[in-house]
Amino acid sequence: MATLFERIIAREIPSTVVYEDDGYIAIKDIAPKAPVHLLVIPKRVSTRLDKIEDAQQLGELMQTAIRVAKSQLQDYRLVINVGQGGGQEVFHTHVHILGGWEGGNPVGFGG
Ligand code: 5GP
Repeated sequence: MATLFERIIAREIPSTVVYEDDGYIAIKDIAPKAPVHLLVIPKRVSTRLDKIEDAQQLGELMQTAIRVAKSQLQDYRLVINVGQGGGQEVFHTHVHILGGWEGGNPVGFGG
């Protein structure tokens, strides 16, 4: 069965797309946890980050997340939830981009 994000990539479920190339899509999160909250999603499906064994794929995912983040924000936080205990709800690997907090101060991590 297609993942939620595969259905978004296929435009079966609407979303706000902020970036797309052959391998990746970046969309606005439907329930933002920060003033700017984007999701960077590889089109090649893996269930969770630690299932990606290829260093090039991992690097490309981070490069894409950084490129998208820098196109929208000066400073930002990247988050990857890995597994249910790590807060992952959608089992199609993705990177959260969070930012835009007033005064530049994010909550948590001593921020
Ligand atoms: P996870 O908890 O798996 O790391 O993150 C999944 C994210 O997907 C959550 O932040 C959630 O708000 C977002 N999300 C869930 N359903 C949808 C949807 O239909 N559209 C969009 N744009 N985001 C979604």
